[in-house]
Amino acid sequence: MSIPMIKKLAVIGVGLIGGSLARALREGGHVGEVVGFGRSLGNLETAADLGVIDRAEVSVAETVRDADMIVVAVPVGRMEGIFSQLATGMMDGAVVTDVGSVKRAVVAMARTALGVRCSAFVPGHPIAGTEHTGVSASKADLFEHHRIILTPEDDTDVAAVARVRAMWQAAGGDVVSMSVAEHDDILAVCSHLPHVLAYALVDLLIRRDDHKTTFDLAAGGFRDFTRIASSDPTMWHDICLGNRDALVKVLKDYQQNLDDLLSAIDRGDGQWLMDTFMRAKRARDTYIEGQN
Ligand code: NAP
Repeated sequence: MSIPMIKKLAVIGVGLIGGSLARALREGGHVGEVVGFGRSLGNLETAADLGVIDRAEVSVAETVRDADMIVVAVPVGRMEGIFSQLATGMMDGAVVTDVGSVKRAVVAMARTALGVRCSAFVPGHPIAGTEHTGVSASKADLFEHHRIILTPEDDTDVAAVARVRAMWQAAGGDVVSMSVAEHDDILAVCSHLPHVLAYALVDLLIRRDDHKTTFDLAAGGFRDFTRIASSDPTMWHDICLGNRDALVKVLKDYQQNLDDLLSAIDRGDGQWLMDTFMRAKRARDTYIEGQN
C-alpha cells in the first residue's frame, strides 16, 4: 500500500467545508487518519457516523498532536482562539492552513496567535460552497474544478505552500495564488457584496405589511437572487466585519450605481436603462455563461 500524502489530518471545524475536504482526501486515499474537533458533540458524532472523521478529540491541542496537516475551518471570528490553542500542541514540521472567506483579518490573527510558528501557516480560501452548513451537507466533490485561492506571505515557508497546494489539487481544486489585499478586494465585489444585498432585499420585503403575499408571489428571479440569504448568519457577520474596509468601499460604489439607476427611472430615461442593461447582459453572458 502506498504512503498517503497526509499521515494525520486534523480538521478544526468539521462542517460543510472542513468535512468536504476530509471526504475528498479520504476518498482519494490521500490521508491516513482524520481527527476532528468542533463545538458540538452532535455534529462530531454525525461526522464519525458518516465516516468523514475517524475520531473526535476534546481539545484543539489533542486534535493537532502529531498531525502533519492542520485545517482550520471554523467561522472567521473564531479563528484567533483556535490558532492560539493549536500553537501549543502542533508538532515541528506541521503545516497549518485555513479556509476562511477573508484573508487580511485571518492572517493578522495567525500572526498574533502563532508567533514564530507563523511561517508554517498558509492562508487559503476555497471558492466553493453552498448556503447549507454542517457536516451533513459536506460532499467529496465540492471542490472539483473550483478555484482554491492561496495567499502566502513573504515569510511563508515555500515547502508548506507546496504541501497545501498538493492537498487541494488532490481534492480536485484548481489552485491559484494572489496577495491578501487582492483576494479581499476581489471577494468583496464578487461574493461579499452579493451576500449582503441578498440579505438586505429579503429584509426589505419582510418589513412590508403584505410580505406573506409578496413571498407567495415571488418567482424564480427572486429565488435566484436571494438563495444566498439562507447562508449562515454567523459566518456572514464575521465576513462583513473581517473585510470591513473593502466591503464598505464596494457598497458605496453600489449605492452610487443605485442612485444613477433611480434617477434614470425617475426621469424616464429609457436609453440609459437599455445601455446599462445591455452592457450588464453582455458581460454576464460572456463571463458567467461563457457565451459571446
Ligand atoms: P459550517 O458548516 O457551519 O462549519 C463550521 C464548523 O465549525 C461547524 O462544524 C462548527 O461546529 C465549527 N465551529 C464553530 N465555532 C467553533 C468553535 N468556536 N470551535 C470549534 N469549532 C467551531 O460552516 P462552513 O460553511 O464550513 O464554513 C467554515 C469556514 O469556511 C468559514 O470560515 C467560512 O468563511 C469558510 N468558507 C465557507 C464557504 C461556504 O460557502 N459555506 C465557502 C468558502 C469558505 P458545530 O457544527 O458544532 O456548530
